Amino acid sequence: MMTYRSPGTLNPRRAFTLIELLVVIAIIGILASMLLPALGKAKIRAQTTTCLSNSKQLALAWTLYANDSNQNLTRHFYSTLADTNLTWAAGNMKANDGSESNPQFFMHGNLGKLADNEKVFRCLTDRYVHPTTQKPLPRTVSMNSWMGGLNPKVTPNTTYNSLTAIYNQNIWKMFVTLDSITQPSNLLLFGDESPNTIDNADFLMYPPGTATSGNVPTANHGGSSVFSYPDGHVETRKWTQTQTYTGGLQMRPNAVDTAWINDHSTTQ
Ligand SMILES: [Zn+2]
Repeated sequence: MMTYRSPGTLNPRRAFTLIELLVVIAIIGILASMLLPALGKAKIRAQTTTCLSNSKQLALAWTLYANDSNQNLTRHFYSTLADTNLTWAAGNMKANDGSESNPQFFMHGNLGKLADNEKVFRCLTDRYVHPTTQKPLPRTVSMNSWMGGLNPKVTPNTTYNSLTAIYNQNIWKMFVTLDSITQPSNLLLFGDESPNTIDNADFLMYPPGTATSGNVPTANHGGSSVFSYPDGHVETRKWTQTQTYTGGLQMRPNAVDTAWINDHSTTQ
């Protein structure tokens, strides 16, 4: 017997119509667009937490070194693989001396022995690839140029002489002992440095109140950099202008961000 199916009866085995499919795709698209920014922010937060933790470990190693050395701070500035005990991190990321791909330059240095972890010398967000080695730089963190004093073997030389006007110890303090740092929660210690300027082991900063830019920070943590301080605490610093970190070899003179870094470099 033939059965009659009215036109309004649903067929449980029929396919989606095109309209229904498009509606489902549109809903998935809307949900994805709501979810992706949240996932992106969660990724930035996770990376920032790791970088803060790494910076804190490096600051702790720095304090341990001073406590084991009669309060004397480890020095900064360039040294070779044969002289790793002269600075906190030997080598120069722009010298093509092998240190641009070899972590031993800092792992054999004063802090590498104590930190015992290559990862704390490198911001995990850094995507720079060295043009010759085609590898990431092993070290992307550097130290406030007013901490520890220069490696004695670089004095006197032309590089040092060009810096003597900046490092005028008659006015501004070049801190050489831990207990001489009068504002340990206010002065920068380690920070994420831009691949444009990272070279030797110091993050060049000009004295407070000056408008000149030294080395350039990164902004890979959602427009911020990670810094540690001599008292061991760590913070992110949000930059106010993109030119702070996109301007190449210098931050913008007379700008808020340049002034902030300089104001946290040293004291009289
Ligand atoms: Zn970082």
